[in-house]
Amino acid sequence: MPTQREPGLKKRIEDIKNRINDAARKCQRDGSSVRLVAAAKTMSVETVREAIENGIDIIGENYIQEARQKHDALKNTPASWHFIGHLQSNKAKYAVRIFDLIHSVDSVKLAAELDKEAKKIGKTQKILVQVNIDGQSSKSGISPENILSAIREMALFKQISIRGLMTMPPFFDDPDRARPFFSALSRLKETVAADNIDGVCMEELSMGMTGDFQAAIQEGATLVRVGTAIFGKRK
Ligand SMILES: *Cc1c(COP(=O)(O)O)cnc(C)c1O
Repeated sequence: MPTQREPGLKKRIEDIKNRINDAARKCQRDGSSVRLVAAAKTMSVETVREAIENGIDIIGENYIQEARQKHDALKNTPASWHFIGHLQSNKAKYAVRIFDLIHSVDSVKLAAELDKEAKKIGKTQKILVQVNIDGQSSKSGISPENILSAIREMALFKQISIRGLMTMPPFFDDPDRARPFFSALSRLKETVAADNIDGVCMEELSMGMTGDFQAAIQEGATLVRVGTAIFGKRK
């Protein structure tokens, strides 16, 4: 008996884009206000190349070493590279060379390091600040109570540009349980925006993954980070 073939990458990319558009339309948003970041950790250069050829224009990476290899092999493609994993300060010098946006800045110390390294190469590094939205897990991110003071400090660094917030809520396989965390991040973004800090532009909300991106879009996500629904299960 022939086994059911998995749909190809091209088809999965079309599907996910349609699902993003549908989710946006359902809450009277324009589909173009949500950008898709293809979370490509563990995927090969060839797979990422195929994704780019089939309409992916933002690649999300979690590990610097892996990202350097892929970026090097694919730097002549039109894709933009985003960092979405935990970044150690001592890797900041590589990060500023590769990434247009770093989603996961989780300390003033890391922001300081990015500022220093961006200055060396004459770049203004766009960043998002990662929020530990449930405040109690051991995950990375700045707690909601400390976010304003942290952003006020980061805003003093001239070579970084703060563009918004990112989070990874718990329960990301159950969209309805993740939803309150998405709406909390959205409100936090408004709180920061209302503080009118010089050099801070609260335009992006990076939230939502394969299991919960529709809920995230309804709560205001502008960047969704999707891996499994594009590339299939990771080994
Ligand atoms: C892997 C990863 C994703 C994508 O997860 P999927 O469930 O495979 O869509 C999103 N965000 C971050 C930070 C990740 O590490």
